[in-house]
Amino acid sequence: MENIAKLIAWKFGNDRTRLMDMLIEIQETEGYISKANARELAGLLGTSQADIEQTISFYHFLSMKPRGRYSIYLNNSVVAEMFGRKAIRETFEKAAGISFGEVTPDGLIGLFDTACIGMSDQEPAAIINNKVFTRLTPFRAKEIIRYIREGRSLNELVHEGFGDGKNQDPRLRAMVSSNIRRKGMVLSDNYHYGKVLREKLPTMSPEAVIAEVKHSHLRGRGGAGFPTGFKWEFCRRAKGPKHFVVCNADEGEPGTFKDRVILTEKPELVFEGMVVAGYAIGSDQGILYLRYEYRYMKDYLEGVLQNMRNEGLLGRNICGIEGFDFDIRIQYGAGAYVCGEESALLESLEGKRGEPRDKPPFPVEKGYLELPTIINNVETFATVVRIIENGGEWFTQFGTEDSTGTKILSISGDCMFPGVYEVNWGFNVNDMLDMVGAYDVQAVQVGGPSGTLIGPDEFYRTLGYSDLSTGGSMIIFGKQRDLLREVVLNFMEFFIDESCGSCSTCRNMPQVMRNKLHKILDGKGVKKDLDDLREWGKLLLASRCGLGQTAGNPIISSLKNFPHLYERLLQRDKTFDEGFDLEASVKAANAYVGRKAVFHHHEH
Ligand code: SF4
Repeated sequence: MENIAKLIAWKFGNDRTRLMDMLIEIQETEGYISKANARELAGLLGTSQADIEQTISFYHFLSMKPRGRYSIYLNNSVVAEMFGRKAIRETFEKAAGISFGEVTPDGLIGLFDTACIGMSDQEPAAIINNKVFTRLTPFRAKEIIRYIREGRSLNELVHEGFGDGKNQDPRLRAMVSSNIRRKGMVLSDNYHYGKVLREKLPTMSPEAVIAEVKHSHLRGRGGAGFPTGFKWEFCRRAKGPKHFVVCNADEGEPGTFKDRVILTEKPELVFEGMVVAGYAIGSDQGILYLRYEYRYMKDYLEGVLQNMRNEGLLGRNICGIEGFDFDIRIQYGAGAYVCGEESALLESLEGKRGEPRDKPPFPVEKGYLELPTIINNVETFATVVRIIENGGEWFTQFGTEDSTGTKILSISGDCMFPGVYEVNWGFNVNDMLDMVGAYDVQAVQVGGPSGTLIGPDEFYRTLGYSDLSTGGSMIIFGKQRDLLREVVLNFMEFFIDESCGSCSTCRNMPQVMRNKLHKILDGKGVKKDLDDLREWGKLLLASRCGLGQTAGNPIISSLKNFPHLYERLLQRDKTFDEGFDLEASVKAANAYVGRKAVFHHHEH
């Protein structure tokens, strides 16, 4: 279409910081972003074409080459592999007559791999033109290709669905189940929409709200565990003409999907929490940064926000509080795990490549558009509403002394009942396994690939900030799984793909470690290889952000807790390192053009 770039740029006020919205819309309309459109955008936004192209290259769901009128993104997470992804992949390839990474000659269908799409409780799953297809079987895969070829609507396939709860909402129409298996204070049925905003907020000062959150000892639920009340207090005190509330809904850690469920079943709770935060820190603007994988919720969530506006829970003088104006907009990512890191998320929010910023300054002082910003996780905002409703003191009776309240877990893998479970902090892993019906368990990955892999002798451990700290991803592996080949390798590939490429350690080391693991798996390893892996893991700790710092964890943590799996593969008669050319491996790693490591414009 002619002038599409102009139209879309105009729609977003020719505002450079809204570049992500523009690129996503062009991608969705045209199936790709042409050079001509990139050039046009650059002119309109007063930036360079290279700048626009670098941004496009950073995000998985943006492309300068056509991706097909139907782009099939098949998840390649470890859980997808465990539940039959290989057969689905082969079926798609056979039925479409192309390989993954290709588009059919008529431009109709494109096949692509993609990292965890937040459906680990119902894998294998794929996203096709913003519709999510779960529990795929080869039959379903064939049927999907047939429907596309016959020009039939994919809605016919989606809406037979498996919906539960709000999943039945026609605006959401997806075959995604919420699978809530255990409710606690956040997922509770006795939440009364709007009550806290109408009845509590007008009776409290912003300082009193912060005091209550501090009293609750609530810590951020995204994984880092920073005390929420303090964060809010710092931000309130920070000087600036405007403050922002950002909700991090970029849950990209493989194996986690609880934010998807909270946003599906209790979106009002999350938005109310953002309003409470806005009141507390003196902000009039909230932004939900939602991962592109959840784009299927767009109409539904926009509808919820509109209802809140209609009911005076968003907008001007909210709930009669004179001068308290607050509204929320949704900003989509475009596929990049690192954007879950808060400073990378801010860059992305501003329409740039999601490369983490150096800290300090911290976002509470210089965040979105360099202005004071709080960034909290979906679950944190939802929890805050219950705290303001019932009091900080009430909240402290749940959980443990250093980890108050509840935690919502995303549990998947080898168990009878994968899904979302809300438990009090302090819950131990053994009870968790009994709860989900997991038998003959070999290992549990706590906290996703960046977390730790534990075996049965550690199942006595408890969930909490002082023991097993976690954002909530729990993947269970039965005895039948090959932990090194199926799990550790998959996780390493994930980090290699997701590195933003700014730091040389994070760009190279995971690949070099993966290559060494291959050497060991090929039966060519010696003891020194294991020592090397441990040393190289330490080098990664110097990386700029959490991605690089934890990128060696799959190997380091399995080497620590499952040393026998490595040792039994070693050549016992050899002690020297042979057959591994480190220099060549580093060179190859440097040459590898990861999907985001295209432009290394600043080296650290
Ligand atoms: Fe990018 Fe990795 Fe460095 Fe983080 S550690 S800034 S992801 S290269």
